[in-house]
Amino acid sequence: MSENSRTYPGGCLCGAVRYRLRHPRAAYWCHCTLCRRASGSAALPWVTVERGDFEVVQGVLKLYASSPGVVRGFCGACGSPILFDMAREDAVDVSLGTLDDPDALPPTHHIWTSTALEMAQGLGPGLPRHGAEAP
Ligand SMILES: [Zn+2]
Ligand SMILES: [Zn+2]
Repeated sequence: MSENSRTYPGGCLCGAVRYRLRHPRAAYWCHCTLCRRASGSAALPWVTVERGDFEVVQGVLKLYASSPGVVRGFCGACGSPILFDMAREDAVDVSLGTLDDPDALPPTHHIWTSTALEMAQGLGPGLPRHGAEAP
């Protein structure tokens, strides 16, 4: 995906937070229990970008430290989960479902399928599945 130079806009449910990203590196489904609780969904699709390729252009993200060294950013008004930021990495993850056009970046694999729900088995059929992090 690195040859892709277009800009992808997105935002939260209420519209208070707007962002844009560029140079998507990967898109994937996460089946971990933390993403499940953070989103209220059976699985959460993410797109990975360099930290500098994600920019909030309106509003501010409210931050929650969901694990040591991990911050999740969401809209403080409507609760939409938007950002996953691991301080030790140079990349961040942005929730695909908050993009204006999520189908522009279809997920290519699954992670944390060791904790995937039965009801989520039909998502992204045929894509590589990794029990924990992607290798
Ligand atoms: Zn909002
Ligand atoms: Zn996850």
